[in-house]
Amino acid sequence: MSERRIRTALHEASDTQSVNIEADALDSVPDAFEENFGDSTAIVVADGNTFEVAGREIQRRLERAGRTTIEPHVFPADPPLYAEYSNIEKLRDSLREHGAIPVSVGSGTLNDIVKRSSYECERPYMCVATAASMDGYTAFGASIEKNGLKQTLSCPAPRAVVADLEILEHAPEHMTASGYADLLGKVTSGADWLIADALEVEKIDPTGWSLVQDHLREWTESPAELRAGDRRSTEHLIEGLILSGLGMQSYESSRTASGAEHQFSHLWEMEGLGKDADPPLSHGFKVGVGSVAIAALYVLILEHDLGDLDIEGLRDSWPTREEMEQSVRAQHTSPDLERGAVEQTLAKYISADELAQRLELLREVWPGLRAKVREQLMPAGQIREMLQAAGCPTSPTEIGLGWEDFAATYARAQTIRKRYTVLDLAFEAGILDECVDELFAPEGFWGRVEDSQAESVRKGAG
Ligand SMILES: [Zn+2]
Repeated sequence: MSERRIRTALHEASDTQSVNIEADALDSVPDAFEENFGDSTAIVVADGNTFEVAGREIQRRLERAGRTTIEPHVFPADPPLYAEYSNIEKLRDSLREHGAIPVSVGSGTLNDIVKRSSYECERPYMCVATAASMDGYTAFGASIEKNGLKQTLSCPAPRAVVADLEILEHAPEHMTASGYADLLGKVTSGADWLIADALEVEKIDPTGWSLVQDHLREWTESPAELRAGDRRSTEHLIEGLILSGLGMQSYESSRTASGAEHQFSHLWEMEGLGKDADPPLSHGFKVGVGSVAIAALYVLILEHDLGDLDIEGLRDSWPTREEMEQSVRAQHTSPDLERGAVEQTLAKYISADELAQRLELLREVWPGLRAKVREQLMPAGQIREMLQAAGCPTSPTEIGLGWEDFAATYARAQTIRKRYTVLDLAFEAGILDECVDELFAPEGFWGRVEDSQAESVRKGAG
């Protein structure tokens, strides 16, 4: 089943030509290398941990298959490899000394470093996944810190990907949980695309949509089993993550896999949240908390009748371009973040008349859109329980964020990306602030979570 889905998906992908997910997939590395790179020389790139987990074995198998190889490039295991540009320079300079094709053996950070270094040497590469920890394996672009700022540097996805289920099952628990959260985030990102589509901001691309959404429920249905290392659940997770990356390749944008929940994550990432924690706070864990936050917001939005807005009143109170810029500047304290947020917000700015037109359209489409979004979503409480079952944090305090900063994230996250999401809808409909107040009121979704946490602290102290 999964093989057929992947073959279909590869048809749509621009960079990746082969994917092999199975129990003893390491066996297939020499053949996959030959299929994709002919008689080229290979170089295994890993870190101290992943070299022990799979790198040494891959090196041995390539040699045994008669492949010419170069001494593996192994980054130290300690301190943990960080996705910073100096590591790319290091690898790139050493790759330039020969013409070998890199075989990346690792997870997100290592893959991103190899992806970008290979691109800078104008070389394709191959990836062996060691954890089902995020959907970036088959995505283009690498998330790297350069000049003190985390950014996505452009570069093609790997030519071939191999994922050995036995290795993935034994990956550190928090990495698998992170991948699960990144995948479950597609529930809210899908809802955001439905909104952008209905408001004619960004049409749904049927292929990009279906690669990510068609099997999402099946991929995410058994978080507790996944946590226990169940084979089938692991296979579902890695299939979902890999197809999600292929969806981004096919649509040439991360819209297929990333909505407002990722904007929460990106904002926290840019502010360095959890960067010095051990292990550092993962992309998936930030996305997971963002997904609960956005699903909770959706509940309130769907209770409103957005077909019955005071369009005249909203048009009259709509900020001018200058006022919008001032308000964005007031919400950010870091100069880089402020500059980026102003640029992104103004890129999606519409005039008061355009706002009125959009709200007229919203009035027309709301009944149908509301039904579609309800079908796409899961209740916030259910998303929270599924994430907990997988071993993910689900509240701000668990990721080192205070309640006030968390509440402020709703408005701030809306400013950092031009992508249209439910945060924009709520802002334009004039209900974002009141919804956030409601979520954090004593009886609101987050108010109750905060209260139960305070309760357990009290019990612990007593
Ligand atoms: Zn993601």
